[in-house]
Amino acid sequence: MLNILKTYFGYTSFRPLQKEIITNILNKKDTLVLMPTGGGKSLCYQIPSLMMEGTAIVVSPLISLMKDQVEALQANGITARAINSMNTDTENTSIRMECLQGKVKLLYISPERILAESNYLLKDIKISLFAIDEAHCISQWGHDFRPEYTQLDILRKQFPNIPIIALTATADKITRQDIMKQLKMREPEIFISSFDRPNLSLDVKKGYQQKEKIRIIKRFIEKHENESGIIYCMSRKTTEKVAELLADEGFDTTVYHAGLSNSEREKAQDDFINDRVQIVCATVAFGMGIDKSNVRWVIHYNLPKSIESFYQEIGRAGRDGIKSDTILFYSLGDMIQLTKFAEESNQKEINIEKLNRMQQYAEANICRRRILLSYFGETTDHDCGNCDVCRNPPERFDGTIIIQKALSAIARTDQQIATSTLIEILRGNYTQEIAEKEYDKIKTFGIGREIPSRHWQNYILQMLNSGYLEIAYNENNHLKITDLGHKVLYGKQKAQLVVIKEDTTHKQYSHVITNISPKDDSKENEHEVSLFETLRLLRLKLAEQEAIPPYIVMSDSTLLSLCDKKPVDIQSLDDIPGLSEYKKKKYGRDFVEAIKLYINAQK
Ligand code: ADP
Ligand code: ZN
Repeated sequence: MLNILKTYFGYTSFRPLQKEIITNILNKKDTLVLMPTGGGKSLCYQIPSLMMEGTAIVVSPLISLMKDQVEALQANGITARAINSMNTDTENTSIRMECLQGKVKLLYISPERILAESNYLLKDIKISLFAIDEAHCISQWGHDFRPEYTQLDILRKQFPNIPIIALTATADKITRQDIMKQLKMREPEIFISSFDRPNLSLDVKKGYQQKEKIRIIKRFIEKHENESGIIYCMSRKTTEKVAELLADEGFDTTVYHAGLSNSEREKAQDDFINDRVQIVCATVAFGMGIDKSNVRWVIHYNLPKSIESFYQEIGRAGRDGIKSDTILFYSLGDMIQLTKFAEESNQKEINIEKLNRMQQYAEANICRRRILLSYFGETTDHDCGNCDVCRNPPERFDGTIIIQKALSAIARTDQQIATSTLIEILRGNYTQEIAEKEYDKIKTFGIGREIPSRHWQNYILQMLNSGYLEIAYNENNHLKITDLGHKVLYGKQKAQLVVIKEDTTHKQYSHVITNISPKDDSKENEHEVSLFETLRLLRLKLAEQEAIPPYIVMSDSTLLSLCDKKPVDIQSLDDIPGLSEYKKKKYGRDFVEAIKLYINAQK
């Protein structure tokens, strides 16, 4: 097992549960694997397939996923093929031939094709195992339901002695039961790994408006030069607006949403995967079907509708296990919009509840990772140290007067204003609405001038969440004072607010420095970054020559390891994780030469 791991994948040790899962499969037992994105599910069936006689049949729901997996395996010198609707007849015929000759170790196939082939190709070849990838597609509970998946029960019927391995990153119990039942798995052993993704930093930024968000994003991207990232937005219009604003700043950006044509979407996805474009501004439609391992950051420009969606979306960063950053922007406008969507949806109660949990997460004053893990039913006994709350614990102050100012302005307008007007009154802005309604005549006009608008946004959110205010969604989102709010307004109770820290973004050194070379000598670090850049460009060139994505040539973590160890001969490449024998032969010389040149240039 270890031999194969090293030879074909270039790794020296297994991740938690991989070895147990592989052993179970080698013992021909049905197996259910629940692991988060990036957890290392693929190796769990790929290693057994290399150790067993015959061909492993892998069912995968999306052509792009199959393509990615097949390319990754081939890049390690493993004979993998895919049968799907994109192939020509000639291609399919030759793949069948190779299968019959026993040359193919892994055959990826779409669910509809496997049903069609169950009495033909599958009967004629020796099959080592069936792997059902993205197995949650079988369940109607989930969001990726695929009707064809429900017919996969024929596998157990027609091939009673071949082990079935189902794999998914969706962990809930109903889905789990559905998978085992529908696939007719026989006393399956279930392996559930932790859903924690410690390499993803978590950061929530509250109450910012478009201009400030763009300013923060711009600064963030400048610190993440050349690093791929996704910005998720609530609407198509917003993706386009954000992309336009970033493009104006000179960033390399594209958009992806359901309103584009198929070919436009494919191009956006392809450019991103192949490192031809750095940033995608996308709606939630983007991501399923992408295995790109070097997505270094994910930003939510708007609040997601549930913790599930949020976790799935941030999960697209850092699949290679290297430190990656995530930022969630959260504003009152988002809450109003999402509440409206939830109210109008079919499953109103459930969706409101999910949104509330999302909001609690965004509002939390305790370690955010603890909240995520407990949401998914895991407990942990320590704070993560890699979220904004851990890095920058909230401080409170007596906010009674600030709160009274806001509540008083609301009271004096007969509770007929929404947030934006409230802030204008507090700040003393003379707008058309204020002139028409004569709000400039009320006593509180301009009473909060010393506090900037964006801080008012933040305080009002806090007041809402502490229960001093509520929003009348059915009355043009006007703000209403609660009983608790009246107590504060009339001085019967004091109230606290959390101090707003202007720039809570932790120092984002390049990941190259934080992860590989903890040395603090900044000069040394500059060199590391530029060696990384040299090797990154070499990787890009090699990938272009072969028309495969750069991360398939070599992952970011392999590049980082090369920067750290600086091997100058082929032998020393043995110590570099992620370099299979095949890749060593194919690319080793190029990288060693580049490192040598770099070292000489430093002298
Ligand atoms: P998943 O399918 O669970 O999302 P993958 O199988 O794509 O995850 O693996 C994620 C990353 O982790 C890949 O880059 C893979 O090469 C790497 N990986 C998997 N197993 C190991 C291991 N034992 N040691 C080091 N890296 C591993
Ligand atoms: Zn934390």
